[in-house]
Amino acid sequence: MTNSIINLEHITHKFNHSIALSDVSLEVKQGEFWALIGPNGSGKSTLLKIILGLLKPSQGTIELFGGPIDSFNQQQRIGYVSQKSNAFTTKFPATVLEVVKSGLTSKKGLFKRFNKEDEQRAIDALHVVKMADRKDESIGDLSGGQQQRVFIARALVSHPDLLIMDEPTVGIDRQNVESFYSMLSELNREYGIAILLVTHEIDVVTKLATHIACLNRSIHFHGVHADYEKMSETELSGWYGHPIRR
Ligand code: ADP
Ligand code: MG
Repeated sequence: MTNSIINLEHITHKFNHSIALSDVSLEVKQGEFWALIGPNGSGKSTLLKIILGLLKPSQGTIELFGGPIDSFNQQQRIGYVSQKSNAFTTKFPATVLEVVKSGLTSKKGLFKRFNKEDEQRAIDALHVVKMADRKDESIGDLSGGQQQRVFIARALVSHPDLLIMDEPTVGIDRQNVESFYSMLSELNREYGIAILLVTHEIDVVTKLATHIACLNRSIHFHGVHADYEKMSETELSGWYGHPIRR
């Protein structure tokens, strides 16, 4: 039994002839909270797509839970909240509970009849993100931050070991960002769910993450929080690609 969730070794990815990722290695283990940072265009989203099996890397190997990417079962153990999850809320009017239950159907788009047990799982997931009292409301009536919580609940119904998010707070108003992050931290610490989060918010990186990975076109750094704390603003700015103030 391994506690490794993601193990990437020497991943390089090219789009036509341009290199989006060059020789990236990264291991995420059970219970860790990783912040993935780096300037725009440094390959963060590309790396997530490779982990999710949406892109096959040009070179390198990827293992999930100690084996090659293959099964639906493995995918169910990784919850993904995309930045544009809310695109479908405007197309299909649905209640909060329906959106959460849809997380139990396969990604191949198969339809499923839901039973009482599914319903209970969806309600439990809504309790975790503190949205159970809104279950019968239309998703479109909620604020951006509340919708994002519902999409996290949708990812949680399959009881994942890891939650992957790509800039989840874009479009959420400032005062709700803080409570959003305290909820993520609770998911990590109390429920033991590992997190891989792409973010530009340096506060999160320094306060919540236990591990940091930085993609910076030519430099790839990853380390534990302590290494990051020791770096000066100048070092960080060079590393991140723009001025960073602590
Ligand atoms: P980030 O998420 O860090 O902003 P991306 O992973 O989106 O970066 O992009 C990394 C690089 O790959 C960029 O130069 C981007 O233009 C390029 N890229 C991303 N997706 C594609 C694609 N589908 N086709 C061609 N180039 C792409
Ligand atoms: Mg991106």
